Parts: sequence; structure tokens; C-alpha cells
Amino acid sequence: MQFPENVTRLCGAKKFSFGCHAGVDCFTECCRELELALTPYDVLRLRKKPGLSSADFINRYIVQEQEENDIFPRLYLGMVDDGRASCPFVGSAGCMVYEDRPGACRAYPVGRGASLTADGRQQEIYVLVRENHCLGFDEPGSYSAKEWFHNQGLAEYNQMNDEVMSLLQHAQARHLDRFSPEQIDFFLLALYKLDEFRHFVSGTDFAARFKVDEKDRQAALVDEESLLRFGICWLKKLLFDEG
Ligand code: SF4
Ligand code: SF4
Repeated sequence: MQFPENVTRLCGAKKFSFGCHAGVDCFTECCRELELALTPYDVLRLRKKPGLSSADFINRYIVQEQEENDIFPRLYLGMVDDGRASCPFVGSAGCMVYEDRPGACRAYPVGRGASLTADGRQQEIYVLVRENHCLGFDEPGSYSAKEWFHNQGLAEYNQMNDEVMSLLQHAQARHLDRFSPEQIDFFLLALYKLDEFRHFVSGTDFAARFKVDEKDRQAALVDEESLLRFGICWLKKLLFDEG
């Protein structure tokens, strides 16, 4: 696989030097001019601190796009029009949503590419991205990709993102051109609008209408993580007829 010049593969125990803290001269330089795609779990976590409803969060912070060849829409964090295209969550003291920052922000300067093979096996690669503005490579600290991910609390992000990947890269999705507007609405509802989805799942006719086991429906309503997991399975059944 061919990578851009500033991207190198990080294999196994291969280490890189890195440190990031408020004392670096480039502090928060990486929080501007970003094309930051948000996964459903990113949105679940990011909504926690502002305490916004899904609809308010999406209206305020999200840019939605769907290219000609995309069968699913993509959601991005909208940057602020401040002349520097800053992230809406960056302040003079750093990230204002640090505990719930998106997976890509946690992982930086490492990137993880996960995918499913044609026979459904999961594969992953790690890469190191060196950008000129980032001075963190001169700081002490030595990590392999897995050590860095552990250090940045990425386990739950990877786990949930991999569950979403099983929907996005579903074998049947490879043979589809488009979903109907109603199917796209269900996709956004179950993955990104969790409080509206909770209301929908709570409805008395949901279990009968979608032939959902009552125990599964009740378990989904325990918390947003359970609801998101339930939503992924429900969408696979709805969009791909998965049993
Ligand atoms: S969410 Fe936080 S870490 Fe990520 S770009 Fe915004 S301010 Fe930076
Ligand atoms: S540019 Fe690099 S070192 Fe500087 S704040 Fe961002 S991640 Fe940290």
C-alpha cells in the first residue's frame, strides 16, 4: 500500500517518540482546519459535556455530506468561521471536551485503519502521521501503536467503531447503489440521534412492528451505549435482512 510521504506504517512493537502537553509551542495547532469525521460513538461521547439533545448537537455542530458513490451519509464536525477554521471545542486552555474528545483526536498522531475482508474477517493497520506543525515528536515518551492507543483510552472507541464497521462494510452493502430516503433517516436515527431513537424504541408498537424480542428492546433502553449497539443490529436486520 502506498502512503503519502509524511505517513509511515507502524508495525507490531515498532516505537515512536511523542509527547503532547500544554507546554509545547504548537499547543492546539492540531485543532484547526480539520476534516474531522465523527463516528456514532464520537457523537454519543461528545454530547455528554454540553448535555445537548441529539437534534440540538447535530444542528449546532455537524456538517452532513453524502458523495455520489457513498451509500451512507458521513457526519463531520463543523469548524468555526474565526479566520483559522478552529474546532468549536478548542479554548486557550486546550480541548474543552477532553474526557470525551473524538477517537481521531485521541489517536493522533497515530491512525488506525480497520476493514473487513470479502469473507468477513477483520483486519487493521496502524500508521504514524508526521505533520510539520506538530512538535510532539521532539518530546520524551516512547510508544508502540498499541501502547499509545491504550494510553489514550481508545479501547471502547475501537470496539464500538468496529461494530459500526460491520454495518457500513456489510457484504450486501458492496452490491447496493442507494438506500431510500426513509432508510437513510433510520440510519441517522439509530446511530446519531439516540435520544429520538430511544423515544422511538420505547413506543408500544416498536416490538411488534419490527418483530423485535421484548427482552432485547428492554435491554436497549438501559443506557446510550446499549441503545447504540441495539441500533446497529436493528439496522443490519432492517437494511440487509440479517436475522
Ligand atoms: S475535539 Fe478537542 S482535541 Fe479534538 S480537535 Fe477539537 S479541541 Fe482539538
Ligand atoms: S500539534 Fe502535536 S504536540 Fe502540538 S498540541 Fe497538537 S498533538 Fe500536541
